Amino acid sequence: MRAGPSQEEIRRQNLGALLRYVHVHGATARSELTTMLRLNRSTIGALTADLAAAGLVGEGLPNQTGRAGRPSLVVRPESERVYAYALSIEVDRLLAARVGLGGRILDQRQADRPRGSAPGDAVAPLAAFVKEMHHAVPPGSRYVGAGVAVCGLVRRADGMVLLTPGGGWVDRPLGAALAAELDGDGTITVGNAADVAALAEYTRGAAAGCENFIYLYGDVGIGAGILAGGRRVTGHGGYGGEVGHMVVHPGGWPCGCGSRGCWETEIGEYGLLQATGRQGGSGREAVLAVLDAAARGDAQAQTGVRHVGDWLGFGVANLVNIFNPEMVIFGGTLRDVYLAAAAQVRSRLNSMALPACREHVRLRTPGLGDDAPLLGAAELAFEQFLADPLASEGEPAA
Ligand SMILES: [Zn+2]
Repeated sequence: MRAGPSQEEIRRQNLGALLRYVHVHGATARSELTTMLRLNRSTIGALTADLAAAGLVGEGLPNQTGRAGRPSLVVRPESERVYAYALSIEVDRLLAARVGLGGRILDQRQADRPRGSAPGDAVAPLAAFVKEMHHAVPPGSRYVGAGVAVCGLVRRADGMVLLTPGGGWVDRPLGAALAAELDGDGTITVGNAADVAALAEYTRGAAAGCENFIYLYGDVGIGAGILAGGRRVTGHGGYGGEVGHMVVHPGGWPCGCGSRGCWETEIGEYGLLQATGRQGGSGREAVLAVLDAAARGDAQAQTGVRHVGDWLGFGVANLVNIFNPEMVIFGGTLRDVYLAAAAQVRSRLNSMALPACREHVRLRTPGLGDDAPLLGAAELAFEQFLADPLASEGEPAA
């Protein structure tokens, strides 16, 4: 029979819970921490003192107090001093940021990325961004690790990228390549862009407090981050959520994965441009131009957008039946497609999804906009650190 957790284990769990709370909610009064974490005042005081001694939180008086009497001290995350690097490899751009505890972007870099280029080509420019930002880090800062969001199929164990939208099948050990380039001791965690964007929306976006939701992310391809019972559905190897390759139209278009009629061939960028007679275009601007034409009354664009909205609703109805989510969020290009074709999506949902599964589902656009994959990459790094914040002192990267 296993003995219960030791006093020390409980203390470490509580340290993580307190730090996570102020990471997610920002400066928080001690009285609120007592209530929300269900710990007594003296325990909160002792935990706060330990985290403050490690330089992870600061304490002070609240900025304003509307109530009479002695104000409760607030506990703040040390956002300026405790940080992670967040990197995002997107279809058309590369992003790098230094993100402070509490999710605050302290420094940021961005570059265009040629379409269809190999994920490995992103390593050198991203590493250069990190080194550049590292020069500006104040002395005495604490580095906790790095997270990377990649549009592609990613193996969780080592960050191997296997399939990229527009680039087909590849075999790139991205995590190891970045670690070698950065020459740092911190952990580098690589995740699929839709998965980590969902994590960001769950932590501080549209899905805050939602234990069951689906975040659909569209660019050239379609990915999903799925939370079920408060846990990310990543599957055995990390490849879960590849809803873009769910076959919806067996006689349909060939897909970059080698199959035919995958959902992304109907609702991805190519599908939308094809359906609206804009075969020559590509990129977010082309998608927005078609939706704009539809809004202005262009008949061919309107028919195409309705067609794509219908396919979007078709897949969403199936996902709703499988996962019974509280919310479906449409991100990337799907945000704009959904806003232009919400009636078709809703109509498919109403006719195809089981009433019990669709009754409570809310259809939403993201709370964090296009920064969600970048902010989610930071959360990947913080997630590990927050599990046991006093475990070890991180070494700076680069
Ligand atoms: Zn496919």
